[in-house]
Amino acid sequence: MKIQMVDLKGQYEKIQLEIDAALLKAIRNASFINGPEVASFTQNLASYLGGAHVIPCANGTDALQVAMMALGLEPGDEVIVPSFTYVATAEVIGLLKLTPVMVDVDPLHFNITKTNIEEAIGPKTKAIVPVHLFGQCADMEPILELARENGLYVIEDTAQAIGAVYTFSDGTQKQAGTMGHVGCTSFFPSKNLGCYGDGGAIYTNDPILADRIRMVANHGQEKKYVHKYIGVNSRLDTLQAAILDIKLKYLDQYSSARRAAADRYDRFLAGIDELKTPVRARNSTHVFHQYTVLIANNKRDALKQYLEALGIPVMVYYPVPLNEQEAFKTIGSIVGSLHETKRLCSSVLSLPMHTELTEEQQVFIADSVKSFFKL
Ligand SMILES: *Cc1c(COP(=O)(O)O)cnc(C)c1O
Repeated sequence: MKIQMVDLKGQYEKIQLEIDAALLKAIRNASFINGPEVASFTQNLASYLGGAHVIPCANGTDALQVAMMALGLEPGDEVIVPSFTYVATAEVIGLLKLTPVMVDVDPLHFNITKTNIEEAIGPKTKAIVPVHLFGQCADMEPILELARENGLYVIEDTAQAIGAVYTFSDGTQKQAGTMGHVGCTSFFPSKNLGCYGDGGAIYTNDPILADRIRMVANHGQEKKYVHKYIGVNSRLDTLQAAILDIKLKYLDQYSSARRAAADRYDRFLAGIDELKTPVRARNSTHVFHQYTVLIANNKRDALKQYLEALGIPVMVYYPVPLNEQEAFKTIGSIVGSLHETKRLCSSVLSLPMHTELTEEQQVFIADSVKSFFKL
């Protein structure tokens, strides 16, 4: 069987009857925008998240943009982001004429830490965007404390970490995306909770902010034809909500399947000197959106080619630090050396990771990696 980076078809086939029936029902109902499935999914996701307010929207990038608009961030305000992330995180900051201030990440967990953020805080700083990269939470407790001390908003980019749980020092546990002022997620098909097109959602525990977000996402509309803010049109459509409402029931199962696959990789890839398997954070569960290894001695690109030639798809997330992208040359600023980001960009390699990955496939992948290293 062909190995895939993500197996969306295999996953669909296991729940095909349920999905097909729900789609047919929604189509026959013809309530394509804001149909009952949207309300149902929104409620179910809210209870999955432990009671946060959930505002569905069109995609994860919109979620970030709408969140920043609803928080009232203004041109010139600085927003601290990791330099090692997907472009969307910083792009919306630029789009709103805010200034992205890019900082380095912790090379063990690929996430920003309090220390990275601290030195970037200045008089214009208004918000921090921790990205829970590859499926585990940034170390939020110290970040939230730092934000509180400095009066900063915390906008969690949890596009890759839905279902990850963070444990605070007093034992309290919270879902990724529900710890800061706002959480933003994506239902892009390959995300851990993916729909069959584009989708996203915004979470907040603050009911007043929730109302604002809802308005901004709907043309700034307070009630029909009363527009209080300049907003956008960003909606999750009914068909996608119907799919997500079914898949949400399986999310914990999907996370377990990913964790089991990650544990197998850990075992099969142990003892390779020039390869470092992912480090689990002390206080966050990992939902393995990606299983990302570090390859030493500049051998990453050669290994990638070697595996691809054997029919094993692998990916580099992310090859270029954000601050080196042309789009950010003139709008962003950086604080610190960003040395770790630079190093990660040349050494990370993400292996196939999805809910349908079999032990047999992983044995083949691991054996191929070992043969590259002549082991
Ligand atoms: C996927 C992703 C986004 C954007 O989501 P879209 O739904 O594709 O707009 C934002 N941030 C991160 C970290 C992502 O991985």
